[in-house]
Amino acid sequence: MATTVEFWGGVGVIGSSKVLITEGDHRVLLDFGLDIPRGTDLFRPPVVPRPQRYLADRLRVGAAPRLPGVYDPAMLEPGDPLGEPGPATAVFVSHAHIDHCGLVGTLRPGIEVHASLPTIGLLRALAAAGDGLPGGEPDWRPLADETPLAFGPLSVERITVDHDVPGASGYLVTTSDGVLAFTGDIRFHGRAPERSWRLAERAAGCEMFVTEGTALGLPAFPGPVRTEDDVVRDFAAALEAAGRDLVLLAMYPRDLDRVREFIDAAGAAGRWIVWDDAVAAFLRELGVAGVLAYSEVGLSGLRDNPGGFVYQPDLRDLRGIPDLADLPVGAGTVWLHANGEPLGPFESRWELFVEWLAVLGIPLRRIGAFGHATADDLHTLVHRVAPRTVVPIHTGAPERLHPVGGPVRLLAEPARAYDLGGRPL
Ligand SMILES: [Zn+2]
Ligand SMILES: [Zn+2]
Repeated sequence: MATTVEFWGGVGVIGSSKVLITEGDHRVLLDFGLDIPRGTDLFRPPVVPRPQRYLADRLRVGAAPRLPGVYDPAMLEPGDPLGEPGPATAVFVSHAHIDHCGLVGTLRPGIEVHASLPTIGLLRALAAAGDGLPGGEPDWRPLADETPLAFGPLSVERITVDHDVPGASGYLVTTSDGVLAFTGDIRFHGRAPERSWRLAERAAGCEMFVTEGTALGLPAFPGPVRTEDDVVRDFAAALEAAGRDLVLLAMYPRDLDRVREFIDAAGAAGRWIVWDDAVAAFLRELGVAGVLAYSEVGLSGLRDNPGGFVYQPDLRDLRGIPDLADLPVGAGTVWLHANGEPLGPFESRWELFVEWLAVLGIPLRRIGAFGHATADDLHTLVHRVAPRTVVPIHTGAPERLHPVGGPVRLLAEPARAYDLGGRPL
């Protein structure tokens, strides 16, 4: 029985990974995400997606893949042939970032969605806090670490890796033609690099290795890569330097390990971190201790004791940005950007954000760390795994991966079928 593999997303772009493996009448889909908002996303702010037409509108403008047999017919245009049932399909999500899981709420009823328990917990907490997946929660199935799950002739195993969100995972899919291994998003300079190297060990010698390659298309890092130790140390030092003035923050709340470390560091400096109410509800849902919501402090609270707080305003859209003008900004006030929203200069929101800070006299300091493997680490990874074929996805520059010592590099085309040796069919 021949195995085929198709790449329905993440081809030449950062994000939207979707790897479809078919054997006989069974299919495994690794990740089902959205492009992260950037210049080419037609649904970027100020556009507000229409909830009832969420999927149909995305399909209409080519912002979701026309993958047959996976979508909920109730979310499609009446009569759309995409709504016809397809082969048995199981979905496996690598982690709780929107570019990997953002479409799972649009899946056909009956399709199981497997992921790590922390991934499912995080997405359920977001839903409980009013920030759930478009289309609702899918049929989640927690999958234990390194415990193979049979699906027809295929077998799928999840391996926890290190990334900037808890529960991030890679997968091994065993087929009759050999093993396909997938990194999801991965890094080797976080708190648990041994997990990521464990994936390399388990994937060693596989037939096809599908790896994220985010760093390949980005400018090289000046100097050594920043670690989580660097981030927390810079955060603590910045709080100290701010004296009795208010400190502002932009960090990504899904990075729960960093959230907990920042809450502790703020506490040690005599400060509370104040989150917008939706984020506070999400963090409490997950049992994070020491969470304070903006509505519990209010503007008057921040004004009475600016040195007692670190405040993270809600900047998911910028409609509330004039509220910043009310904040008590002192000589020591600084906005610490630790990979929060807006995410960076590649986003349409960034320029406006920076303009407001300049006018308000708030210096911006970036203290984050990269969530993805460096280009050097990616090359070491591929060398260690030594697959027969390597497929770089989730990058703007897959051609900058240069495997040595044997592996053939496949620059995949979207939605085209390949065999496990990377040959087009
Ligand atoms: Zn990603
Ligand atoms: Zn990610």
